Amino acid sequence: MKPAPFDYVRPNSIAEAAETLASCGGDGKIIAGGQSLMPMINFRLVKPSVLVDINGLPDLSRIELNGNRLRIGATVRHYMTATDPVIMERIPILHEAMRHVAHLTVRNRGTFCGSVCHADPAAEMPLMTLLLDAEIVAKSSRGERRIAAPDFFLGSLVNSLEPDECVTMIEIDTLPADAGWAFEEFARRHGDFALASVGTTLRERDGRATDVRFGMMGVGEIPLRLPAVEALVEGQEVTPRLMDEVAELLGDTLTPNTDLHASADYRRHLAGGLAKRALADAWRRAERGTGEA
Ligand code: FAD
Repeated sequence: MKPAPFDYVRPNSIAEAAETLASCGGDGKIIAGGQSLMPMINFRLVKPSVLVDINGLPDLSRIELNGNRLRIGATVRHYMTATDPVIMERIPILHEAMRHVAHLTVRNRGTFCGSVCHADPAAEMPLMTLLLDAEIVAKSSRGERRIAAPDFFLGSLVNSLEPDECVTMIEIDTLPADAGWAFEEFARRHGDFALASVGTTLRERDGRATDVRFGMMGVGEIPLRLPAVEALVEGQEVTPRLMDEVAELLGDTLTPNTDLHASADYRRHLAGGLAKRALADAWRRAERGTGEA
């Protein structure tokens, strides 16, 4: 298919990008890596009147550490996130999750922020933002807005940005040096969108788990933080029995869809298996107290 006609604008500043979006009456689209947007435009699933290309803007292609928060700019490509030494050392779970994102050619163009804005329920980076308590920073002609990750994902491919807002960066937590972590995923082929993934981080204090974070994707319309699982694990020793209880809880409470790729029952079963593996790995790392792989 060929795309419907559109205008193409390459702004010189974020302010100009925001003004252009505002002037389109909700009909403009930011283009970052174009890896998701261009196929949708070619299939005429979206028909923006204007594409606002932010790739030439300065200051958006940086990864910066600010205390215990990492800032990932809007044009940081997946390959940059995957190879960044600070991420490898301070947020190893993000490094691990990034290994599952697509293939080399897509990773050379696709961006971290674009993936989060695209809000695909089977994408890894939206889950990482939820798990790592991210804030999405958006600018418009009205100023800057910070959106907490749980308020950002409204549905499959739907986020809470206003039509004239441009994401400039996403801030995420680094992990404490002694945190255990794990990311587990099942996809039919490496680099395909996942059927389901689990991410978890926790610490060990006096033989018990604390600061537990647990999230999943592929089991709903949006990535999920699962407070019931976090509460079940918090304050407990992570034993095979506890992991069975977590799997049972997921089996009882998750409501995934049946689709072409897997039935709801299969996804629920998968969720339990991935959760057990992830908790065992995270606990092993936390007991060692180094956070290393
Ligand atoms: P674009 O395609 O440029 O934009 C996507 C959407 O986000 C558009 O609606 C756009 O307007 C909006 N947007 C982008 N940037 C901004 C911004 N700064 N502010 C406001 N809105 C913005 N992803 C995975 O997570 N896992 C996979 O396994 C995976 N496999 C893939 C396999 C293939 C063959 C392909 C083509 C893609 C795959 N992807 C996968 C998607 C890939 O990661 C995309 O790069 C990503 O989803 C979108 O990033 P992008 O920079 O290309 O965004």
